[in-house]
Amino acid sequence: MDKVNILGVHVDMVNISQATDCIMRFLDEDKFHAVYTPNSEIIMLAYKDEKFCKLLNNADLLTADGIGVVHASKILKKPISERAAGYDIARQVLQKMNYTDHKLFLFGGKPGVAEEAKKKLLEEYTDLNIVGTRNGYFKLEEEAEIVEEINNSGADIVFVCLGAPKQEQWIERNRDALKVRVAMGIGGSLDVFAG
Ligand code: UDP
Repeated sequence: MDKVNILGVHVDMVNISQATDCIMRFLDEDKFHAVYTPNSEIIMLAYKDEKFCKLLNNADLLTADGIGVVHASKILKKPISERAAGYDIARQVLQKMNYTDHKLFLFGGKPGVAEEAKKKLLEEYTDLNIVGTRNGYFKLEEEAEIVEEINNSGADIVFVCLGAPKQEQWIERNRDALKVRVAMGIGGSLDVFAG
């Protein structure tokens, strides 16, 4: 996949539908994949923090979340055709997953939000296989238990909704322990799904 280097962050030149196809391919590969959707704020953070920049570039898919990132790609003469926000990609992935056996875990948000999101999503995507939920407020020492809960659920994909950069750092810290094929950091999306 073609990438554009924006202040050191190598963003994939994909639109929402290409990002979705890519994630569906990841789900068929028996290995871990990290998906992040940086906006300008996150790219600026990476510009100032080399370690965080490396973490982002270690992702398997990095999409342009925000018109600022799309503009930057155009200035750099490697234009990304549209904003590919985490929420919009997640919606398309859900639509496709509804017709597969892939299992989804919803992680993040205040207590009750992931459960409410599950309920609402199942009204819309009736065959979706949501195998677990967990709120996003925890102590560092609870992390191993959260990973175990996700692993024991048999999930193939986890939506990690802790806000940036917390979610990207959580995924990076736990990538070796996670048995999922895809971990997507998608910010406040569970709040939106919950309505
Ligand atoms: N959140 C969480 N744990 C935390 C901090 C935040 O689960 O320790 C959740 C918060 O409840 C909200 C989301 O992360 O649902 C952050 O949403 P926001 O829109 O601020 O993130 P963005 O999409 O801008 O990255």
